[in-house]
Amino acid sequence: MSPQPFLSDDDYQPIRALNDLLFCERRCAMHRIENVWVENASTLEGTHAHQRADRAVQWEVVAGVRAVHGLMIRCQRLRLVGKADVVEFRRQTDGSEVPYPVEYKRGRRRKWDNDDVQLCAQALCLEEMLGGAVPAGAIFHIKSKRRREVPFTPQLRQKTEKTAKRLHELLAEGVTPPPVLKARCRGCSLKELCMPELLEQRRRIHDYHGGLFVVRET
Ligand code: SF4
Repeated sequence: MSPQPFLSDDDYQPIRALNDLLFCERRCAMHRIENVWVENASTLEGTHAHQRADRAVQWEVVAGVRAVHGLMIRCQRLRLVGKADVVEFRRQTDGSEVPYPVEYKRGRRRKWDNDDVQLCAQALCLEEMLGGAVPAGAIFHIKSKRRREVPFTPQLRQKTEKTAKRLHELLAEGVTPPPVLKARCRGCSLKELCMPELLEQRRRIHDYHGGLFVVRET
C-alpha cells in the first residue's frame, strides 16, 4: 500500500458538509465557498440538538456500555473531519469492543439519506482511526426520543465515498451552482438570499427566448 500523502488542516472538510451537499449543492456552496450562513427555526433546532449531545461529560457508562461524547474524528483517505455526537463501544463476547456512532437529529423518527451518509462517514473515520469494522450506528431523533438503526451497507458506503469526492470537487471548482427550485427550498434558511423562484423564472424566460430563434430544418 502506498503511503498516505501529508495533508494540512485546509485539505479536510467537515463531515456535516456531506449532509448539506445532498440537501442542495447550491446551499453547500453558499455556506462553504461564499461563507453565507443564515439561521432559521430548523437550523437553530438542529444546533440545539447537538448541544444536548455534546455536553461537558466526555464519557459515561450506560447499561454497561461505554459511551464517549464529542469525539473528534478524521478520515485521511476521504479528507473529512468532524465530531461524533456519541460513540458507544459495545463489548463483544470475545472481550473486544465495536464502535457504534450515534448522531443526534432534530425532529421525529424518519429516514433521510443525507443523515445516513453523514453517519456512515463517521463510521469510515472510526474504521480508519481504530483499524476495525464499524458495521452499524444509529440516528437518535430528539422529538420522538427514538433511535433508528443504520446498517453501513456496501451501497451506503459507496454513496458516502461518492458524496465526499463530489464535495471536494465542488469546493475546488469554487463556483456556486445556479438554484434548482424544489420542494425542500421551502424549509431552506438561505431561500431569501438564494431567490430560487426568481432565478428559475429568468432561466425559463431565457430558454423561451432561445427557443424562438431555433432554426428548424425542413
Ligand atoms: S433555496 Fe433551494 S436552491 Fe436555494 S440554497 Fe436553498 S435548497 Fe438550494
